[in-house]
Amino acid sequence: MFWNVLCVLNGVGKSCLLLRFSDDSFTTSFITTIGIDFKIRTIELDGKRIKLQIWDTAGQERFRTITTAYYRGAMGILLVYDVTDESSFNNIRNWIRNIEQHASDNVNKILVGNKADMDESKRAVPTSRGQMLADEYGMKFFETSAKTNFNVEQVFFSIARDIKQRLVDTDSKAEPQTIKISKPDPAKDSGTAQAKSACCGT
Ligand code: GDP
Ligand code: MG
Repeated sequence: MFWNVLCVLNGVGKSCLLLRFSDDSFTTSFITTIGIDFKIRTIELDGKRIKLQIWDTAGQERFRTITTAYYRGAMGILLVYDVTDESSFNNIRNWIRNIEQHASDNVNKILVGNKADMDESKRAVPTSRGQMLADEYGMKFFETSAKTNFNVEQVFFSIARDIKQRLVDTDSKAEPQTIKISKPDPAKDSGTAQAKSACCGT
């Protein structure tokens, strides 16, 4: 059983966050023919093992062509912006609209301001603005750094806990669905390898 979590927005450090969090020894990562990658990490919540399958888009978010199938399969969505990039923050509202149109109504969302390690002089979005936006939409909010590993575990555990709570609340009869990807394309794998090596120098 997998819990699907989708990460959106581009150039903000999504892939790095995922790499930090994922259980690499257990995960085969690949970019599919449609350019969506995922990583898996098994976590333990209240004594239960849960496999988080975390989806990472690779560029197509710029064109907002994430297919509705991904939204529909998502149980949680991390909306990630870059605290040094105001336009990525302004983009969050567009993504929320997009999610409202395509994702299931009760999908759990968390707002994440990444690159919190950057020097204050580089910061474009104060913590308070992130918090206000999150409050407006009733989302939780975290600032993170994939570079220093600040709050990364907290974000993923938080969304896992929210999903768990929702499933308990809505009577967990309905089995969560897993998105199936038909054909990995090894030819496109080089993109992932590059992203890895470019990631925060790790
Ligand atoms: P994505 O397009 O959202 O997947 O972004 P990436 O994960 O590829 O990261 C984009 C760039 O930001 C890369 O050069 C990363 O090294 C850098 N980066 C990612 N996360 C952090 C972070 O937490 N702090 C800093 N300083 N740089 C980061
Ligand atoms: Mg990426």
